[in-house]
Amino acid sequence: MARRCLDAFKGRTVCHVGEWGGMTGDATFEKQLTESFQLVKVVPLPNWTNTCYALTVWQRRGSGTADPGAPPAVVCCSGCGGPVPLDGGVRSRLCHRLAYCSQTCVDSHADDRDAAMAAQLLPSVLHRRQHFTPLLAGSL
Ligand SMILES: [Zn+2]
Repeated sequence: MARRCLDAFKGRTVCHVGEWGGMTGDATFEKQLTESFQLVKVVPLPNWTNTCYALTVWQRRGSGTADPGAPPAVVCCSGCGGPVPLDGGVRSRLCHRLAYCSQTCVDSHADDRDAAMAAQLLPSVLHRRQHFTPLLAGSL
């Protein structure tokens, strides 16, 4: 449904409320949105411990309304705080607010991740690499 809405939309600004790379839309929609629109603002929203919903505002590329500066990150790394690349970042399948830009950050954030997972009553054995998924699986 999100893709069909975006296909039909002819305006300049898209406001997306949801979980990027998670439970809202799909990878094809997110790829289409990033190709046709530039992210201009990210507004964090209240979340449960296992979700990462946000309001993102996008301007159509070539419309003259997008800021020529560097766009904000859609998802920030839980390890270093930097942007998580959409084509190389990973997110925890069990705790969506945990996302990482690199394996180095996955490894260095293990203790904090243990605490976040324990807060959700999830055992640390679930922190292994296979419990991470590419942020945009198969879309880029
Ligand atoms: Zn990082």
